[in-house]
Amino acid sequence: MNSALIIDDDPDFRALVGDVLRAKGWQIWDADNGETGLEMAREHRPRIVICDLLMPRSNGFHVCRALRDDPHFASTRIVVTTARGYDADRKAAYEAGAEEYLTKPFDLKQFSALMEKLSAPAAAIPGSTTFLSRDGGSWVKFWGVRGSIATPGPSTVHYGGNTSCVEVRTKGQIIILDAGTGLRQLGRALTQEFKERPLALNILLSHTHWDHIQGLPFFQPLYQPNNRIRILGYEGARSGLFNVLSSQMESPHFPVGLKELPSNVEIEELRDMEFTVGDIHIESYFANHPGICVGYRISTPEGSIAFFPDNEPPHRLKHTSRKIESFDTARTAFVKTESRKLAEFIKNVDVLIMDSQYDAQEYERHRGWGHGCVDDVVQLAVEAGARRLHLFHHDPDHDDAKITAMVEHARSLAAAAGSPIQIEAAQEGMKVQLAPKA
Ligand SMILES: [Zn+2]
Ligand SMILES: [Zn+2]
Repeated sequence: MNSALIIDDDPDFRALVGDVLRAKGWQIWDADNGETGLEMAREHRPRIVICDLLMPRSNGFHVCRALRDDPHFASTRIVVTTARGYDADRKAAYEAGAEEYLTKPFDLKQFSALMEKLSAPAAAIPGSTTFLSRDGGSWVKFWGVRGSIATPGPSTVHYGGNTSCVEVRTKGQIIILDAGTGLRQLGRALTQEFKERPLALNILLSHTHWDHIQGLPFFQPLYQPNNRIRILGYEGARSGLFNVLSSQMESPHFPVGLKELPSNVEIEELRDMEFTVGDIHIESYFANHPGICVGYRISTPEGSIAFFPDNEPPHRLKHTSRKIESFDTARTAFVKTESRKLAEFIKNVDVLIMDSQYDAQEYERHRGWGHGCVDDVVQLAVEAGARRLHLFHHDPDHDDAKITAMVEHARSLAAAAGSPIQIEAAQEGMKVQLAPKA
């Protein structure tokens, strides 16, 4: 049975709100001050605590904090109801642990609907709280597109100089792919959009090379106490995920340690190659890149997104020198199989974001570095039947003109292959809306 405890020193308010919920079959307790309210909460463990701010014997902020400090109330929902609409109070209430802040008087129908929503069973995976309306469909937005190191300056203003960071919104969730320097701007945008509302974010890391994690210490939502930020990735070749992420924030590299951050940060090492965030299905695939590095494929109701920020396609046989060609037919077969497996993983993907750092000439000098040649990436994308390809992980030495030339070259390759694939270079600020399925 749903249950709520109403803590408010106004008896009329307690009766009014209590009656609305009792009519829906809820069990209701009430208290006229904070101290008694806390005692009753400990005794009855209500699903929701509805709490006034200004009350005798323990104010509402104190009640929120006391509940949040007690692990028994980890899944208890807290709603603050107050006659005061000050922004500072609202902020302080969220910081104290409230999830909703309602200014009296409020619409009782809306209130009742909110209570039903909050009383629903908690999501199975922490950090998967739904914040967004699901009406916006699914989309992808680029915040950092560069590889290796951030390259600000006049020659990169068009495509952008920040390193790997992509935002995905689908089914009411925010999923962030990589935490390169582009993460900083994304953090500012999220703070602006959601103000003090608590955020639950999921950051999926492809790997922990600098260009994929350096934005993390500068991500504003990490500094808001009510946010829950879940960082997912795989154990590295030499060190666990937590160690790698905390070491970049240790003195003398950074003044604030990972453990000192005010938000709730959970770092989770993935073990399986398939998992869910909320009810979003995600698969991973080990990329061809030094150390442990993965690509992800995210399924949304409007289509799929594959993210391979760092990857050297394994199928580059046509450029292999004669010496290597004769080296081993078994190796050739192996490379072909690897290539087929990767094409299978990204088969018919709607949006493919893939490392295309080098042109064919540059690639000859960088073979085995773990990055893609645009020719190979186009071939792979066409073979796999991808609908849209975004060249990604732009070389720090490539200016805007060079990247535009690479896009044109990529399009001509696709046209020559008779493929309808759309090709663009990933560009900071570019948003790609996934089209609803017919
Ligand atoms: Zn990289
Ligand atoms: Zn890398």
